Amino acid sequence: MSRIECERCGGRLRLSIPDAAYVCVRDPSNHFWPRGEAEQRWIAMWRGRAEADPSDVEAALGLASVHGTIGSMSLAAGEAERALALFKDELAILEALHKAHGGDGRVQEALLESLGVQAEIAEQSGQWSTCLTVLEQMLPLAQALHDARPRDDERARALSSCLNGIGRMHRQAGDLGNAAAYFARDLELISSLCARHSDDAELATELAIAHFNGYLVSREAKDELEHLQAAERILDELAGNGTLAERGADVRDRVKAVLGVMPAVAARSPEPQRAAHASVEQADSEQGRRAWLIGRVEKELQRRRA
Ligand SMILES: [Zn+2]
Repeated sequence: MSRIECERCGGRLRLSIPDAAYVCVRDPSNHFWPRGEAEQRWIAMWRGRAEADPSDVEAALGLASVHGTIGSMSLAAGEAERALALFKDELAILEALHKAHGGDGRVQEALLESLGVQAEIAEQSGQWSTCLTVLEQMLPLAQALHDARPRDDERARALSSCLNGIGRMHRQAGDLGNAAAYFARDLELISSLCARHSDDAELATELAIAHFNGYLVSREAKDELEHLQAAERILDELAGNGTLAERGADVRDRVKAVLGVMPAVAARSPEPQRAAHASVEQADSEQGRRAWLIGRVEKELQRRRA
């Protein structure tokens, strides 16, 4: 894609914020350009190419990409508003391109990535419903890309993060049924990724987290227990062979804490399990039960850390 590179030697450029200039990593003292002029020139150059031949997909992708790249630079320079405007421009170019070349994998990938930026911005600023809308736009793209090349790990991960995101947004909105459906699809996808890369500790951690998510939205005590035990098994194994990273360790603490406060009988036979489940539920709704359990977990964690 249109990496921004040194106009003299093709070297990589970095943005020097204090100098407001782009500096070539190969020859920083001779190859540098004032930032504003350079950015305008790059955009104008790609726009010229794209407009010269509207059927040139590469040129249109380059024009979109240069907006995205300068947007990222602006974000790094602390100019959030300018960055957001550039990301929006990038998206608009890609959406128009997708209308004309919807079947082109390069266009689908670029559009998916650009929408991903929008979803992340919405999630980070707490705009849940916007985030959900964007993720739902992403899903058919991510699914089509995955279906076209099911063994492409990067595409599988993109689909996974989309399914997971939609699940999170539904959970955020209190729609546990929908959340469970998306988390289950994500779990299945990560399981198949893990099966192909059985020694990848990071993927195994993702699988454990997918199980923990499954637990969070389960309606039946039996399902909760199965998810927690699956997560525990995976994380214990990672801990056993010394590949448990910090994120996994945190989830493992949580899993063990929840298992520790779950009614002991729940783990044993189906008969008392129903009773235990009912006794937890009796006072309250699903949400209340969840709050009760999370409260217990937090207390347990505080106790262990104290
Ligand atoms: Zn250079």
